Amino acid sequence: MPSCQECNSPIPTEDEMPEIGDILICPTCGAEHEVISEDPLQLELIEEEK
Ligand SMILES: [Zn+2]
Repeated sequence: MPSCQECNSPIPTEDEMPEIGDILICPTCGAEHEVISEDPLQLELIEEEK
């Protein structure tokens, strides 16, 4: 299970493997991550520009 790059909590991916380009949202802090690699699964934190 991938972990949040913001708060290090595990991010559930449900039953299906996420695909490249999918957005996973941390259930703990709400940070958004884009899937940049499927195998191994790698996430990239999406930082909102303000
Ligand atoms: Zn988080």
